[in-house]
Amino acid sequence: MPDKRTRQDRAEYFKGYQEKNRERINQRKRELYTLNREKKLAYCREYYRANHERVRATQNRYRRAHPEYQKKWWDEHKEYKKAYREANKGKIRQQTIAWNKQQRAKLFEMYGHKCSCPCGCSESFEPFLTLGHLLNDGAVDRAENGGYHGVLKKALAKYDPEHYGILCWNCNNGANANGGTCPKIGVRI
Ligand SMILES: [Zn+2]
Ligand SMILES: [Zn+2]
Repeated sequence: MPDKRTRQDRAEYFKGYQEKNRERINQRKRELYTLNREKKLAYCREYYRANHERVRATQNRYRRAHPEYQKKWWDEHKEYKKAYREANKGKIRQQTIAWNKQQRAKLFEMYGHKCSCPCGCSESFEPFLTLGHLLNDGAVDRAENGGYHGVLKKALAKYDPEHYGILCWNCNNGANANGGTCPKIGVRI
């Protein structure tokens, strides 16, 4: 006798079955997982190795879309976080250095490679350069945007040459100590 049930009927029946037997199904899944754990993990590792970039891209996309999940996970795993930090001190330091380097490179790409102070300094040795607040509102900007890194992020997210510019440490700190004007302006060299 031909099966008169429609596709939808079957889907509904299956859904009902799943709901009624959820605990049994889950139990069976757990059993199977325990039985095949090694095999499964090996398969996952192999899949990850073969599709490394695709998997990472998907993970990153998900993380960016749901930053709150990641934060929640870390909040719930404080001990793990602490232990991880302890165990990976060197690695984290290297990552931070690399990240800072990358951000600074982006910053110079956007805002120029030399001191833009009107005193005419034009210092171009990059370790001497920093992000300057042309409106002299550095303290407020940092307080409102989560410190130096937050400000850096903001300056990189949107090109804002009215607000931000590259300054050398001398001009930047000199201006801070001099009411917002570089102390070298007007001085004969
Ligand atoms: Zn300068
Ligand atoms: Zn200057």
